Amino acid sequence: MNPYIQYMYSYPHKTAYGPLFGVNLKDYRERLGGPGHGLYLHLPFCQSKCGYCNLFSVTGQTERAVDRYLDTVKGQMEQYREILSPVKTGFSSFTIGGGTPLLLTEKQLEKVFAMTEASFPLEENREIVIETAPNQTTRGKLAVLKAAGATRVSMGIQSFREEELKVLRRNHSADRAREGVKLLKEFHFPCMNLDFIYGIPGQSVNSLLESLKEALEYDPEEIFLYPLYVKHGAGLERDVREGMVLEPEKAMAEYEAGAEYLDRMGYRQDSMRRFVRQREGDREFSDCGFSSSLALGCGGRSYVGNLHFCTPYAITRKDCLRELEAFENTVDFARITHGIFLSEDEEKRRYVIRHLLIHPGLPAGQYRQRFGTVADEDYPVLTQWMEEGLLACHGDYLRLTKKGMGLSDYLGPKLISPYISRRMEAWDEGHRQDDRQDHGSLPGKFKKL
Ligand code: SF4
Repeated sequence: MNPYIQYMYSYPHKTAYGPLFGVNLKDYRERLGGPGHGLYLHLPFCQSKCGYCNLFSVTGQTERAVDRYLDTVKGQMEQYREILSPVKTGFSSFTIGGGTPLLLTEKQLEKVFAMTEASFPLEENREIVIETAPNQTTRGKLAVLKAAGATRVSMGIQSFREEELKVLRRNHSADRAREGVKLLKEFHFPCMNLDFIYGIPGQSVNSLLESLKEALEYDPEEIFLYPLYVKHGAGLERDVREGMVLEPEKAMAEYEAGAEYLDRMGYRQDSMRRFVRQREGDREFSDCGFSSSLALGCGGRSYVGNLHFCTPYAITRKDCLRELEAFENTVDFARITHGIFLSEDEEKRRYVIRHLLIHPGLPAGQYRQRFGTVADEDYPVLTQWMEEGLLACHGDYLRLTKKGMGLSDYLGPKLISPYISRRMEAWDEGHRQDDRQDHGSLPGKFKKL
């Protein structure tokens, strides 16, 4: 059995979205009324493309192109501010993702924070979360983050082994990663998170543990462990076609050893990927993120009640550039043209997926209160998982067992509805046809880890 089917960090997947007509943000603004919402900004620029990346990001953009993008985002912010001011929207978190946000110059980063503060009321105890990468982490840029009040800074290390970084086509060296994390440490952000990948061809349990051991020397508040996926459109897809082998059993052994090691070193496992340091005085960052959230820029998605929307999903450079151009030519950001309205069944599935895969689990009572039905009656597969020892009751919570947690990327996809599956498959098939037209040949069947 391959336990690595799909990472369900959200539901439904963007490939299930489609065109929307006659939908305007103004008609849904009440859902963003009052405090406690999330704000997300996508900065889709990278120095080079990592081999496993299927995120919305482009390389080779000039400083002027980034300025142009920021000017468009500013216009979007101003329009959103006008729409939201009557309902007094307050944001309790501001997340900047990408891409590589620190590819921006210090001046550009300052502009991002200034224009956000000018347009949106960020609440007093708000979280400001940002991703960094070793090559782009400089003292000057970290000073900008510090001045802006960043509370959680995450760095994609992936491995401290040169040969593993090469396989992943990361463009930093292990030494650069060490310098980056040392610098990050000097700034004492409330939460420093370091990302690692397992399941890399040529990696072993020992080499993963060595990387983790080295990471803990910097005493990070959080560690994320990601399995290597090679999805459609990622650079490594070609290597897989040409014989690179991904071994799920080996990846699982690495995961188990990594999770066990982090547990022993005092890190609580909050999900299959997230490990949080447990020490007196450490901040709690657990949040299943079920509130509404508004995305800015191109490539991020907004969750406004049962209305989810974003720019059309794009992976290839050509598609990403097309969407960027369309974004920069947008005149009216209130018009929502691509997304999905979730039915009640899809909302329930989303609730179950988003809670079940994350500590402390699915609150059965809250589910009943919210939807008026019983979770394991709605989804009998939950009872089956309990019988199989993958799920257990902890008071009011249904929580994955240790074994179940390790199978999150196998169990989560089982909760996808047939309707959403059909839409995802249709997107996949459509894009394979585009590839055939673009390249005159069909890429080998995507080989999942
Ligand atoms: S994985 Fe992150 S850093 Fe690498 S290309 Fe993708 S968005 Fe950029």
